[in-house]
Amino acid sequence: LLSKRLQAVYQMVDENTRVADIGSDHAYLPVELIEENIANYAIAGEVAVGPMSRSKKDVEKFGLSKKIDVRLGDGLAVIKEADRIDTVTIAGMGGILIQSILTRATLEQLSNVKTLILQPNIGEPLVRHWLVDNSFVIVDEDIVEEDHHVYEIIKAEKTNNIANLTEPEFLMGPILMQKKTPTFVSKWQHKLNSYQKAVSNMQNAKQIDQTKIDVMKQYIKYIEEIL
Ligand code: SAM
Repeated sequence: LLSKRLQAVYQMVDENTRVADIGSDHAYLPVELIEENIANYAIAGEVAVGPMSRSKKDVEKFGLSKKIDVRLGDGLAVIKEADRIDTVTIAGMGGILIQSILTRATLEQLSNVKTLILQPNIGEPLVRHWLVDNSFVIVDEDIVEEDHHVYEIIKAEKTNNIANLTEPEFLMGPILMQKKTPTFVSKWQHKLNSYQKAVSNMQNAKQIDQTKIDVMKQYIKYIEEIL
């Protein structure tokens, strides 16, 4: 049932958890987590009325409404303290939107949350910055390719020991850098080539933007050191 990308998010969810899937759309992830007995309870949060009411009907049809609540709302506003949600998943959105959803969460909504599993479609460094700035430590990462797009999945846990990351770690992922899977190597090889082309184009341009060139060169250096 799940796509390769959502399967990778699913794999990161711990057993016996209470999960809120924010921006759940069709609610595939909560349904699978409950049907496979990974999570004990799940909220499917969705801001758009259409997908929310469709998911609600599906959840009822499958007889899962005791264990899955489909709720209409913006971001983590669908979570109440009494729900005792310990795991939040946010998948299939840009990093800016994920960061903004997390930034707008109140202390009450995050009070029981121990684990965040985030899958930004782009802008992964922004998400890693939010985690580090808000006392979460990255404990696992995965990278998968589906339909010619590469997706990264980041799992983080609440911590008292704030650990900063280096610039290359924010960019490429502290755990992905260690795992260095073929998908990771191919993603960054591709980026390296395009940055190198961009630098040579910029150097041949009439008006040279040295600051931009220096930033690109720095990225090239980071990537070359890791690959
Ligand atoms: N999470 C699913 C997945 O990964 O396949 C669906 C991803 S879909 C591309 C993004 C969903 O997030 C849409 O259904 C959209 O309506 C919802 N969304 C966007 N902003 C949201 C917000 N602030 N709060 C809740 N849902 C939001």
